[in-house]
This record gives sequence, structure tokens and C-alpha cells, in this order.
Amino acid sequence: MEYRLTDFLPTTKKELELRGWDYVDIILFSGDAYVDHPSFGAAVIGRTLEAAGYRVAIVPQPDWHGDFRDFKKLGKPRLFFGIAPGCMDSMVNKYTAARRLRSEDAYSPDGRHDMRPEYPTIVYTKILKEIYPDVPVVLGGIEASLRRVTHYDYWQDKLRPCILLDSGADLITYGMGEKTTIELARIADENNGRLPMHELVKLPQIVYLSKDVAPTKDDIVLHSHEECLQNKKAQAENFRHIEEQSNMMHAQRLLQKVGNQYVVVNPPHPPMTTEELDASFDLPYTRQPHPKYKGKRIPAYDMIKFSVNIHRGCFGGCAFCTISAHQGKFIACRSKESILKEVKQVIEMPDFKGYLSDLGGPSANMYGMHGRNLNACEKCKRPSCIHPQICPNLNTSHQKLLDVYRAVDALPGIKRSFIGSGVRYDLLLHRSKDEEANRSTQEYTRELICRHVSGRLKVAPEHTSDRVLMLMRKPSFSQFGEFKRIFDRINREENLRQQIIPYFISSHPGCHEEDMAELAVLTKNMDFQLEQVQDFTPTPMTVATEMWYTGYNPYTLEPVFSAKTPTEKQAQRQFFFWYKPEERRNIEQSLKRIGRPDLARQLFPNVPMPYTPHNNAPNNRNGNTPNGRNGYASSTRNGNAPYSKNGNSRDAYPSNKPRQDKPKGKKRGKNQF
Ligand code: SF4
Repeated sequence: MEYRLTDFLPTTKKELELRGWDYVDIILFSGDAYVDHPSFGAAVIGRTLEAAGYRVAIVPQPDWHGDFRDFKKLGKPRLFFGIAPGCMDSMVNKYTAARRLRSEDAYSPDGRHDMRPEYPTIVYTKILKEIYPDVPVVLGGIEASLRRVTHYDYWQDKLRPCILLDSGADLITYGMGEKTTIELARIADENNGRLPMHELVKLPQIVYLSKDVAPTKDDIVLHSHEECLQNKKAQAENFRHIEEQSNMMHAQRLLQKVGNQYVVVNPPHPPMTTEELDASFDLPYTRQPHPKYKGKRIPAYDMIKFSVNIHRGCFGGCAFCTISAHQGKFIACRSKESILKEVKQVIEMPDFKGYLSDLGGPSANMYGMHGRNLNACEKCKRPSCIHPQICPNLNTSHQKLLDVYRAVDALPGIKRSFIGSGVRYDLLLHRSKDEEANRSTQEYTRELICRHVSGRLKVAPEHTSDRVLMLMRKPSFSQFGEFKRIFDRINREENLRQQIIPYFISSHPGCHEEDMAELAVLTKNMDFQLEQVQDFTPTPMTVATEMWYTGYNPYTLEPVFSAKTPTEKQAQRQFFFWYKPEERRNIEQSLKRIGRPDLARQLFPNVPMPYTPHNNAPNNRNGNTPNGRNGYASSTRNGNAPYSKNGNSRDAYPSNKPRQDKPKGKKRGKNQF
């Protein structure tokens, strides 16, 4: 379908004129390119405000140098400025875990690095406040959301206060911002472009600064920013409250003193209903980059253009992940009708060849899941519904998800729908008391493997050490082994040749060199040569980051070791690549140093040292290919992968290529799957 310029939200004076507008209500400044798609935050907020009757313009990636003409070109909005800094934290988007520049900015045309500043939230706000000091500036997006209270900034290597103090903005709408932004627009509209404090105090899911707040018995008063600067344990203690309240159905207000004022975090809205979420996804997105990018490649868009997001939220509670801090742990689902409507839009796209690259969400298989007794969930403080054990109250039926997959696959124009989002195999292995739920889960497992894997299924065991996994809030590694056996058996039964691709992290808090050496041995014994690996990046507002920075587990206040220096991190990371000849000498020396030569013998049994420029030994006497016995090519993920449609930096690179093997008709094996 051919779109006109006026089908997009206006980005220039000329586009305002094309709509006949001589003013706008709200101007959004975006750190990402403007892609009019429900996976891009500025588009979501812009379209939501537009549907509520407001005139909205987007200025994507304004030039922050020189005379600031991009900040002046549309003039002053009637209500407020909004900052949408990007789908990812700007620093995660720009730098690897080793603080090296990434190869490209996935959210910029042609992957260019020079289209946004570091911390656009701060830079854009300062410019706007200089030019228009009397216009409110409202912050949204991951960057502000996860910097709403005192947080550790890995790139500056220090604690920073709430980003309102660093930026000078008026308030933050944290989490998914549709509802809050509409309410803010209404308040500003009713108050001639002002956001009066007596209205703000009642508004859920915002953060503001106040000198006049009086803590009540219902509030949680955190340790002050200054206390946290002095005492790491205070910072760790704070985090437990912050995480618990982010994941509660009915949270308490959080107060944190900074200097002579309070940062006030109003409790979040309840999770969106299906109707509300449908209304957001059903907005008239063109699903295209703005025409100004014609001929330019926006890597993140290329990745998601044939994918459909079916739910929000994640109850996994992984220690290193920010999803639940931003989207919450309760799952908000789209209706099947709304999903099908979007899939039909994808089918109409001119270059769509019938293969959906992903039908998923923050986790692939949480759609439709919730507690059976919602009263229990309303009071629950657990950060995860599935760790350390799957909550007996959680309904783990996969039936609704199966219904969605089948309805999508039945659409004319769909050849295959793939699942690119990460699958929680612990949910697939779980046996509840509900036999019907168990039956649907078994059916889902087989159907997933037979019909929805594009040749390689991504799963994330993340480590092999159960002690580290406990800190990561991930299931025991034995569950990965169990799932792999099922995956391999179903592949054999169905005559498929698919691979399971496990993801692992080094240098996570609690992980020692020895844990990594054991990881190398265990994964070698399973015939893996790892390719999806990353070094832990401490991003704001995760429990893992707090452990890394403070040295304490925020829930137990017990000390936790973390590898921090580049040398310590490299000593862990090298074990991923035990099969590379150039790594062998260092690995053997490390194992000798930590008193585990037995692991060296398991990694290199009866294999003479291969040739390297250092040892002159003969090369490859065992006939291995340069890539190792399996001949798999290897690559690494340097830090969190930057391409993510939902803010989940682990959700990287789903393939949209059809796999070669055609699934045959269902053949039930002896096993129940
Ligand atoms: S009661 Fe169970 S299912 Fe409900 S929110 Fe808590 S952990 Fe999750």
C-alpha cells in the first residue's frame, strides 16, 4: 500500500501545513528515527495522543549542535514537550559491555552513530528548557523510566540521582506510557498548558520532584540519594522495595530524598486490559519508516517489520533484565482478533513473502497466563512467578497461545510463522495439577518445534552453575538438558534437522572463573560450540546491577562477588571459546592458577596443543575443522544485542528465513510430547 506524507505524524513545518495546522498541542523529540510502527515508542505515544484528539508532531533525532534549529522549527506546543529517547537506553544502544562502540546504531538510518547524543533525555531537555523555559517537558521511554530513582550508571561508573535532577525536566511517565500521557494531556489542556501539582499528586505512574510532600504511613521512604552515595548497603536495600513495588498490582508510593526535596514515584497503573492494549495496537500505524528515510536502512526496523507483538509484561524476573521494571510482571494480552488484524496488514506489505519472523513478546510463551486466584496475585510481592519455583497459583496453560498460532497460520498469505522471541523451557517442562494445562503445554511444545522454529530455536539457560543461576533467577541447568533431549527427540521423530541455540552470560554477579570453566566443559560435553554469548552489562534498575555495584544481594544483604576489571572479565569470557586454538594456552594457564587442571584435561583430552604463533605446535591433528568438530561457524554477541522490538535487549536477531526442512504430518512418539 502506498502511503501519503499526511498518513504519518508530521515532522516538519511543511507537514504541519499539509494538514492545515497552525499550531500543535504536543511535540515529541525522539532519539530514534521515526518508524510509524507499534514497536517504536515515539510512534506509540504520538498515535495514542492523536487518537485522543490532540495535534502531535514528532521531531526525530534533532541536531543538538549549533543554533538548535530542529528544536525551534515547530515553535512552542500548546501543552508540553515529550522526550522519547529511544527503544533502548542510549548507552546500551551505543556501547558494548566492554564500553566499546557498537558497530552501528540500530535505530538510526543506515545505522549511523552520529544521529543522537549520549543521554538524549538530558541533552534534549536542557536545550528545550533554555529556549522555552515555561513549557513543561515530560520524559518517557526506557532511559528515563529506569533512571527514576538513584541508580548506578555503568558508563560513568557512579551513582546518579533520579534523571529529573540531571535533566531539569518536569516529570517522568515511567513504564508503558499510553494511559499516563493521555491523562497528562487532559490535565495540561484543562489548565492552559500547566501541570499543577494538586493534579499530579493523584496521577499514577509518574515521577516528580517536590519540597512539600509529607510522607504518610502508606508510603515507602527509601534511603536518600546522599545516604546511598555514602553506603552501598543502603542502595541495595532500596532496590528490593523498588523492584517489589514495580511488580505489584497495587503498589505503594515511593519517596526518596535528594538534597532538600523528594523524588516522588506514584504507583503504576494496573496492567492494561485486553481492550486497552488492542486499542493501542489498532491505531492507524503505517508500519513504515517516515518517507524521509527512503532508501536508507534502519536495522531495527528491518528486524521487526515482519513480526507481531502479542503481549506485554514478563513474570520471569530474570535478575539482569529490565522488562518487568518497565512493563511489569503481569501479562497484558492482545485479543486474537487484534493480532490477526495486524498480521493481515503485514501480509499486505509488498515485500512480505509469507514468513512471519516472530509472533511473540518479551518471552515467547507467556501469552494468556495469569494466576488462577487473582486475589492472591493482587497482594503478591514476588518479583517472579516462576522462580525459584513455578507458583502453584500460575495457570501455565498454553492453549490460548496455540489458538493464536493456529489462527495466524490459517490466514491465506501465511506460509510459516516463526517464534523469534525467547522461549521459557521451564514453563514447557512444568507439570501442574491441572491436567488440561499440562496437555496444552505438551501439544504446544511439539507444535513449536515442528512448525515454528526457523531452523534454530533460541533459548537462554544463561549459565550452567546452579548457584549462579539462582542469583540470575533462572532454572537449574538440568532443565536445559531435559528440554534439549525432548527437542532432539522430536526432531528425530519428525525427520527435522534443527538446532537449539543456547544463550550464556559471563561475569554475572556471583560467577567465578571456575564456574565459567565448568560451563565450558558441560557445554562441550553437550556438543555445543557457543555462539550466542555476552558479557554481563550492568544496566540501570536490575537486581543484577545492584549486586554488581553494591556487592550485596538486595534481598538477603549477603555479599556477592562480581568480576569487574577488564582482566577479570576476560578471564571469564575466554572459556566460551575453549575450542579456538588461540585461547587454549591462556585457558590452560588459568585452570592451573585456579587449581583445576582436571578441567583442562576434560577440555583438551589427549589433544596436543594446536599450532599458534606462540607454541609452534602442529595444527589440528585431530581433524577438527577450524570452527570445531561440528563445523558450526562461531560469532559472539558483544554485550546486549541492540535490536529489540520491546525493550528487551536480549531479544536479538530472529531469523526470518524459512528453514529447509518441511515438517511432516504429526507423528506422536511414545513420549507424551
Ligand atoms: S500469586 Fe503466583 S501467579 Fe500470582 S502474581 Fe504471585 S507469583 Fe505470580
